[in-house]
Amino acid sequence: MFQKILIANRGEIALRVLRACKELGIQTVVVHSTADSDAMHVRLADESVCIGPPPSRESYLNIHQIVAACEITGADAVHPGYGFLSENAKFADILAAHNITFIGPSGDHIRIMGDKIEAKRTAKRLGIPVVPGSDGAINEDKEAKRVAAEIGYPVIIKASAGGGGRGMKVAHTEADLEVALQTAKSEAGAAFGDDAVYIEKYLQKPRHIEVQVFGDGAGRGVHFGERDCSLQRRHQKVWEEANSPALNAEERSRIGDICARAIADLGYSGAGTIEFLYENGEFYFIEMNTRLQVEHPVTEAITGIDLVHEQIRVASGGGLSVRQEDIKFNGHAIECRINAEDPRTFTPSPGTITHFHTPGGLGIRVDSGVYSGYKIPPYYDSLIGKLIVHGRNRVECMMRLRRALDEFVVDGIKTTLPLFRDLVGNPDIANGDYDIHWLEKYLAKGE
Ligand code: ADP
Repeated sequence: MFQKILIANRGEIALRVLRACKELGIQTVVVHSTADSDAMHVRLADESVCIGPPPSRESYLNIHQIVAACEITGADAVHPGYGFLSENAKFADILAAHNITFIGPSGDHIRIMGDKIEAKRTAKRLGIPVVPGSDGAINEDKEAKRVAAEIGYPVIIKASAGGGGRGMKVAHTEADLEVALQTAKSEAGAAFGDDAVYIEKYLQKPRHIEVQVFGDGAGRGVHFGERDCSLQRRHQKVWEEANSPALNAEERSRIGDICARAIADLGYSGAGTIEFLYENGEFYFIEMNTRLQVEHPVTEAITGIDLVHEQIRVASGGGLSVRQEDIKFNGHAIECRINAEDPRTFTPSPGTITHFHTPGGLGIRVDSGVYSGYKIPPYYDSLIGKLIVHGRNRVECMMRLRRALDEFVVDGIKTTLPLFRDLVGNPDIANGDYDIHWLEKYLAKGE
């Protein structure tokens, strides 16, 4: 087991990882920018190292500074959290070259899945169902038109290097296609420094369903069931649940088994998420994330298994603590992402939190790094906390969620809490009857 883990992240996820390390008796080091000197993860860690000024590229994305912090403190492993360097293959390789363990998959696996065209090709080879579309990158209008005619309109043009819901353009007819292709290519080039794009069928009313997987790096793979993350705004998840209200037990184990087998065949190590769109009883792979996800606590709530403990175990060579047959799904869980944003326009609302009071009681978990008097720096993601609620079934979970949202107080800034208070009272949400466009339509109506 590791002696000391360096956490290369900030906010609620840095604290989340720190908690797991403490439970396992592992020393912790955190790195932080000058804007985060007062952050909770800095206060609670055994050691902290300031690695640079507020902009991420000079601190949380600064590989040299992070490696130097490992050497100075003698950390033998790095947990990257999500975002920042968590899917940076070069970072994983550099750590390996310094004999520091990256708590995550190999650089090669990160590289494959980070290139969405290659990821899709790999998924197909592993027997995972994919969205119909081009086999590789599309460069010419002629080629785009041929593929689109073959799969049928509407189609979506996506950046191979895309992420965070950016770099996607929909074309409803052939007349839209040329412009969509050119815009997608130039946006992808500007945003990701790689203008490779591909085409796939645009599904009209899908749900976003993702499977939590784990590999032990030695040919064993398991799945921890799925999460439904269909409630999205601008392709960003807002509310996540496990299990999906749309799947039955047979579909759950069918897709779970396909994913677990693929992970085993790949020789994958650590946590991963295989993302699908789901429509009319069919699953279509869209991408794989090679890290812990923001929404992992809903899976922890229904399985009772700490996924960060598992990540640390696997990375240290101790293997998984569970076999597939040990993983049981118990009840229902929902996570609400609490952002420092206007609940309608989603404009960021940084500032000082004058009062912060979290709900409690059976089945309630709040993962957050903020506190009363905390000043939210304007430089980073607006996520300030996650409320995760568990109940014996979805009805109980929703009842408890409504109560927990009523108890939650965040004063001094705007947050997305009022949106969730509206959503728990909505009949479609109560029935679990929503697809990936539901929230955008709801917000557009201004209900
Ligand atoms: P990113 O890596 O940027 O998050 P994804 O490929 O995971 O991109 O897609 C993000 C979201 O975009 C999906 O959850 C879905 O809402 C939408 N999307 C992606 N591909 C399609 C498609 N083929 N049809 C319809 N919607 C799609």
